[in-house]
Amino acid sequence: MAIMKKINLKEIYMGKLEFGGDMLREIADFVKKKGIRIGRIEALGAVQRARLSFYNQIRHDYQTFEIRRPLEIVTLVGNVSLKEKKPFVHAHIILTDETGKAYGGHLEKGTVVFACEIIVESYSGPIFEREVEKETGLSLWTISE
Ligand code: ZN
Repeated sequence: MAIMKKINLKEIYMGKLEFGGDMLREIADFVKKKGIRIGRIEALGAVQRARLSFYNQIRHDYQTFEIRRPLEIVTLVGNVSLKEKKPFVHAHIILTDETGKAYGGHLEKGTVVFACEIIVESYSGPIFEREVEKETGLSLWTISE
């Protein structure tokens, strides 16, 4: 059964990321600076190159891959929760090339911003702390008030 908790919208930030910046690092730094413990991230724009990963459900590890050319960010969606008591960003991204072909995956460090418009929502509510689950090998949420 789904485990869902009520959270409340606290603040919304809207802005852009710097040309040449590392997308994941810039988002993570912002979230840490603002002390966001739970939140939501949405973005669009373009990247100079991308580094993403795919979680192998059999081997229980991330397979990282790179796309070394300019791509559009059709959408990035992510969330913020705690991992080892610190704000942690989990984001997935869909990118397209000049033919409209899409690439996507789990956003990793090494994705370089060309232009990026971003909205970050900060919430208040229960603690969402990531802990490794045996079944999946993933760091998933344990939720406590
Ligand atoms: Zn992921």
